[in-house]
Amino acid sequence: MTALVVGPPMLDIDLLTTYVICGAASCAGALMTMLVRTSDAGLAGALRTASAGFGLLGLSLLQLVFGVSGPTSPPMLLALAGTTVGLGILGQGLARLAGTHLSGPLVAGVIGAALLAQGLALQAGALALSVAYTGSLTLMCAGVTWGVRGFLLRPRHVAEWLIALSMVGFLLSYGLRMALALAHEGPASIHHAYGPPAVLRLLGIQYGVMPVVVATLLLSVVNTRLAAQISHQAMTDELTGAMNRRALRQQAPGLVSRSLASGESLAALLLDIDHFKQVNDTRGHAVGDEVLRQVVEVLRSQLRPEALVTRFGGEEFALLVPVRDAAAAQRVAERLRATLAAHDIAVAGPPLRVTTSIGLAMLGPDEPLESALRRADQALYLAKQGGRNRVEVAGPG
Ligand code: GH3
Ligand code: MG
Ligand code: MG
Repeated sequence: MTALVVGPPMLDIDLLTTYVICGAASCAGALMTMLVRTSDAGLAGALRTASAGFGLLGLSLLQLVFGVSGPTSPPMLLALAGTTVGLGILGQGLARLAGTHLSGPLVAGVIGAALLAQGLALQAGALALSVAYTGSLTLMCAGVTWGVRGFLLRPRHVAEWLIALSMVGFLLSYGLRMALALAHEGPASIHHAYGPPAVLRLLGIQYGVMPVVVATLLLSVVNTRLAAQISHQAMTDELTGAMNRRALRQQAPGLVSRSLASGESLAALLLDIDHFKQVNDTRGHAVGDEVLRQVVEVLRSQLRPEALVTRFGGEEFALLVPVRDAAAAQRVAERLRATLAAHDIAVAGPPLRVTTSIGLAMLGPDEPLESALRRADQALYLAKQGGRNRVEVAGPG
């Protein structure tokens, strides 16, 4: 009796089928990226480019579903050319997202050269075409990796890093395919991929999965950027770039606990531009706006980066400044007042100077910020009453 030994069934992944699946997944990627709405012109442009790349990649592979009869049959030539152009365009979209400027004519030139190399190789036969195709795609993947190097070296989000890694993965897989095509003896394969079954299986999985993975990562990057933009807009005064009241409320507790931990005190300052209405009345509202912007610049330049500079109202600013003690706080307030008063504000027409009145209150232990700001406001009122262009210190809370 002879025993029949049956090994585990080997999963056969047919490469042509995964090309078609890759096509469908790329079309889905095109749709996913097309559906994102953003008012950010740079982001929208990058997404449109990526979407066009996905679309071309997708359609040129998806048409293989109608059948392909040989490595140089028209559907396969269309697939090779389409993936070359599609990858180039997708790479340009990813590079734009990564903040790398690749010139359009340069990218078009590289794509054109890749197509030309494939066209010339076709004259020498199907195997030469395999080598030229995988070789030119290796170079293009290297170009895309270069374009997204910012994602690789300084990722702001793990999805950026994963996109860059996917591109490195494609670079390696096309490089491997080129080496295998060069080493191949015998007839060309219909799908231009060579090597042991295990390698072909891995390639099939990569092609089937990657478009959706890359598109999803791309959406994740875009989502993170848009969320950061919205949060920035919600926290920032549009005119001056200073933070707004909401941001002050959110960020003050952190500054309070950091100052406590480092043994520093916090000074709450309310600063109001003197006779600002006259600036608007005599020089116009646009000049008034510019004055507000430059006052914020001067305040920032005079304070440590951790100080919070808030536009509290029209021409009124609330500052939360870490200081050693009350005497240091007074020196800071006096320095701000004197620097602003001596600052020539460059505006249309003759330069302009403004003075400011400042109310100062030291944040008491466990005192809510609102309470310290109320006391600073009372001190500001006294500074205005006392003749403006001066600092008044509030009594303890
Ligand atoms: P005081 O010394 O008492 O503070 O006098 P003031 O003229 O500065 O104060 P008042 O509160 O009478 O006027 C403030 C002016 O600030 C009135 C308003 O038109 C102007 N203002 C508020 N927001 C803006 C802005 O965003 N841009 C410009 N250009 N002006 C603004
Ligand atoms: Mg004023
Ligand atoms: Mg005011």
